Amino acid sequence: METPPFIERYFHAEEITQLQKKDAFQTSNYRELVLVRLTHDHKKYPRGTVFYEDGLIPGYPRIMRVLHLENGVKRYFKGRFYIEEKVDGYNVRVGLLNGYPLAFTRGGFICPFTTDRVADLIDLNVFHKNPKYIINGEVVGPGSPYNSEVIPYINEDVIFLAFGLFDIENRNIPIEERYKIFEQCGIQHVRRWGPFGVPDVDRVKEIVLELDRDGREGIVIKSISNGKQIKYVTLSSCLRDLQASSDLITELPAGFYLQRILRAIFFCHEFSVVLDDHYLLESAKALYLSPQKVLKEVADGGNMRESFEVNVRSENAVYELMEHLKRSGINTKLLSIENVDHFFRSRFHRIYTEGTREIRHKLTGHGFFD
Ligand code: ATP
Repeated sequence: METPPFIERYFHAEEITQLQKKDAFQTSNYRELVLVRLTHDHKKYPRGTVFYEDGLIPGYPRIMRVLHLENGVKRYFKGRFYIEEKVDGYNVRVGLLNGYPLAFTRGGFICPFTTDRVADLIDLNVFHKNPKYIINGEVVGPGSPYNSEVIPYINEDVIFLAFGLFDIENRNIPIEERYKIFEQCGIQHVRRWGPFGVPDVDRVKEIVLELDRDGREGIVIKSISNGKQIKYVTLSSCLRDLQASSDLITELPAGFYLQRILRAIFFCHEFSVVLDDHYLLESAKALYLSPQKVLKEVADGGNMRESFEVNVRSENAVYELMEHLKRSGINTKLLSIENVDHFFRSRFHRIYTEGTREIRHKLTGHGFFD
């Protein structure tokens, strides 16, 4: 599709040509809306920014990680900051476009699942206060169509926890104004602590230890004055990541596992934690026993797969979700759709075709160079 003229409001002709060469503009239609998804970071527009006739949905920037909390705080923060809990789900931005509340994924696609459930997740009256707001946050819970990781503090379905607020003119609403708006409009948000300054770093470390004990993922530290943010995760989240992902061992790069080990040992170094036998045993079990189970399943003729169960309001959203996953290169098998408590409850498998093939190849004796 041709790049629509409204793009000229944001980029010079030269930039447009350069971005077009990289295929950085992906144009699609939703009802009468024309949406342009940016597939590469460009100047002040992160990948996943979506442009349309009336404005834009700002892309969510990457957050720098630190492995040494105290020194990271001292290095990156001079002024005051807040700490927010880092919750583990998937990132969405919700806006009102031509009167439709739409939810966008990090990459800038409309998420059919979140869009279907948006009225359950956010009080849409927030758009009466300002129809130009873009509310940004994490959808978390076992009913997520993208993550199958167990979230120890949410038993069923999904919730939305806000942490960001923008508007369609690309304004990032300052942090304290944002907190005030979340309270006034009854928008559920991530927990926060502060404001703090660098001399409060011991308190920051205490909060991390509390979160670690409660099985929470970590924190994002956000400057009040300049928008700077860094993330830091707990020791328990490193183990949980290994447990949640090791049955996908052929799918994830080796770096994924190494990163979790590095995060864990840096945490132990800074907080003087001695890894106990329970932690070590559980890590080893995650790394060996889950992949072993997968190997057996494939050897018995099965597939490498993950199971999902999601609740939607309209049956059509199930089919749109399957289409969306397919477009993102994800192979699924829809198992059932049932009517339960005003929801359509759908069960499906995500099937790792390549990973299954790779295991089968090795099981049948094929050699390879490593
Ligand atoms: P990144 O895009 O920062 O390189 P990533 O996509 O791999 O990283 P994570 O490492 O989990 O994701 O960390 C960043 C993500 O954490 C954000 O994109 C956001 O979705 C999520 N998140 C959860 N809680 C918060 C919070 N309080 N503030 C900001 N982001 C948060």
